[in-house]
Amino acid sequence: MRHIAVIGSGPAGYYTAEAALKHWGEDIRVDVFDRLPVPYGLIRTGVAPDHQTIKAVSGRYEKTALTENVRFVGNITIGSDISIEELQELYDAVVIATGAPHDRKLGIGGEDLRGVYGSAAFVGWYNSHPQFRNLDPDLLGETAVVIGMGNVALDVARILSKTDEEFQGSDIAAHALDILMQSKLKRIVLLGRRGPHQIMMTPKELGELARLERASPRVDAADLPEEGDDAMLEPGLRKSVNHLRSFAAIPEHIHADKPIEVDFDFFASPVSILGNGKVEGIEVERTEVKAGRAVGTGETYTIPCGLVVSCIGYHSANIPGVPFDERLGRFANDEGRILNGLYCVGWARRGPTGTIGTNKPDGFAIIEKIVEDMDAGLLGRGGKKGRAGFDELAQGRCLDIVTFRDWKKIEEAEAAAARDGSPREKFADIEAMIRAVK
Ligand code: NAP
Repeated sequence: MRHIAVIGSGPAGYYTAEAALKHWGEDIRVDVFDRLPVPYGLIRTGVAPDHQTIKAVSGRYEKTALTENVRFVGNITIGSDISIEELQELYDAVVIATGAPHDRKLGIGGEDLRGVYGSAAFVGWYNSHPQFRNLDPDLLGETAVVIGMGNVALDVARILSKTDEEFQGSDIAAHALDILMQSKLKRIVLLGRRGPHQIMMTPKELGELARLERASPRVDAADLPEEGDDAMLEPGLRKSVNHLRSFAAIPEHIHADKPIEVDFDFFASPVSILGNGKVEGIEVERTEVKAGRAVGTGETYTIPCGLVVSCIGYHSANIPGVPFDERLGRFANDEGRILNGLYCVGWARRGPTGTIGTNKPDGFAIIEKIVEDMDAGLLGRGGKKGRAGFDELAQGRCLDIVTFRDWKKIEEAEAAAARDGSPREKFADIEAMIRAVK
């Protein structure tokens, strides 16, 4: 019997567990740890609340979680409740699948002003992440600036634009919906330091902007390259650029009919965030794209605004004793290998790129590496204590473990608390989750 500990119960964690089951069948035990009492990581707190079909992938992880050989161990923080070294003593292999939960910093002045948020915090707020439930952003100004031209920036702009009816069927946090419904926003500026040909937005997600009830996307046709130049783009990006072209053709009367404008400001790099205690504006420098890079022109201007959400990517959280690449913001690794018997997968391995599906081959690949290392005799001969050893240690430390069965009780309570038409009202507070189990 071999034992694997997976740290993190998001897509990368569960695809790894699934791959282990596929490879070893009855001869494996996998414990999937999470610091929260609830599983699924970004599926629960990252994927937009109005994208329920994407969240449905958790059904696949549940299948894995419900097998005898895989166990969910919630409410346990590796690094404080139990160290990595202790886990390594107990399990043949330890796989870090903790994603990239921290916001990358812009590194400009004013970033710490009230009303300036990173996307991990802002998305966490409307998705009921316990860490961010008290964010209480002020949406009473007329303008919000969303920095970045990726799918997270799109999610944020869309959530800021939707009406109550458009949130029907979503599981947006009630505390967020209350604040969003009092919003006075009229303009959401999407700030991109490069041009339309360099956006990271995927076509399906970008297309949604044109179908919003009370918001219309505005692109300045002068920012678009010659149409013929689109031919050299890869097909997905070409489709996204086509959307931008159609946004540029939206007639003025449509803009006039909708109270909110989502304004694409290309070739615009943030220089500093202005305000006294609270954000009041953002200073931006015009750029040109040279050899694919944004180069400042020296021309600057200010966008007055009451909210800034920076959607420029994430970095992983380091764990004491585990080699970490500070520059890349992820664990130092060679194709997922960190140290003997210690591996990483998903965003913790490669950084915050790719879709949920990208984690599937990643999970299967890391199991291949573990198999190679076992075959090479690098991971001992078996005989480790695995979950029985962990349970012993947890009991000794009085750790309050949340099992998958416990999670199903939390899930049931969340479904029972749902507003009409919503699948669930997620607990945004760890104590409440634990109470639902007892
Ligand atoms: P992303 O796709 O990497 O986009 C980050 C954006 O931030 C880029 O436009 C980048 O511009 C910009 N940026 C970075 N540093 C900047 C700076 N200092 N100043 C100004 N702009 C800066 O990241 P993301 O949007 O966080 O998404 C992360 C991953 O999750 C992506 O793979 C994404 O597709 C995925 N995701 C998917 C969905 C979905 O499928 N529905 C939803 C959400 C997220 P440059 O290109 O110039 O660096």
